[in-house]
Amino acid sequence: MKRSDLTKLNTLLIRRFGIPKRNSEFPDPLSMLIGTILSQNTNDNNSFKAYNNLVMKYPTWDMLAGTKTQEIEKVIRVAGLGNQKAKAIKKVVKYLLNSRGEVSLDYLRDRDNQSVLEELVSLDGVGLKTASCVLLFSLDRNICPVDTHVHRTMNRIGLVKASAPDKTFMAINQVLPEGIGHQLHTNLIKLGRTYCKPSNPLCKSCPVEKICKFEKKTDKEGKIEEKNFMLLDNI
Ligand code: SF4
Repeated sequence: MKRSDLTKLNTLLIRRFGIPKRNSEFPDPLSMLIGTILSQNTNDNNSFKAYNNLVMKYPTWDMLAGTKTQEIEKVIRVAGLGNQKAKAIKKVVKYLLNSRGEVSLDYLRDRDNQSVLEELVSLDGVGLKTASCVLLFSLDRNICPVDTHVHRTMNRIGLVKASAPDKTFMAINQVLPEGIGHQLHTNLIKLGRTYCKPSNPLCKSCPVEKICKFEKKTDKEGKIEEKNFMLLDNI
């Protein structure tokens, strides 16, 4: 994959979906990490509710250090996997308190991308996707996180041939052109939620059909119901 392939793909996606809106202010990295943990394996509306519940009940993150995991689980239940997510959040908070004496990830602001990724993935329950979301949505770095939609669409289009999202992440980010990380990430998710669904993709009306090399393209078309709310731009 060449840098220019991503530029071309990004242009086609913008033609269809526009330039995605961003937060006017970027949240602090710990808030973003917690929001991203809550967003795992659920939809944006439910994770947004869970995030708001958590902020209402615990206005400062250090309050979570002395809270029982079961209590946190009750508050975030709407996001699903409550026990697992509550444990992961509490572990991060306790780790920060014990190792740095402060429940904050602000010390990451001065570090380069690689160092931030290494630090975050060393935490239990934090993978490459979650860590790269902190880089993009909080620290405003040029990076394209890869979730299941981004992985599926990039492999169908044929710019990547990778067996797992983390490999797709490496392939994209090695050649990502300057300044397009947020646009590409957001619009690939929109593509995956609308035209390029896991089954029965609407290839006939797809905005990137002319560059897509998917062998099982369909002749399906259909009306698209757009969902523009993106959790991580609203934390
Ligand atoms: S043409 Fe079909 S397979 Fe290719 S990206 Fe569009 S919807 Fe997906």
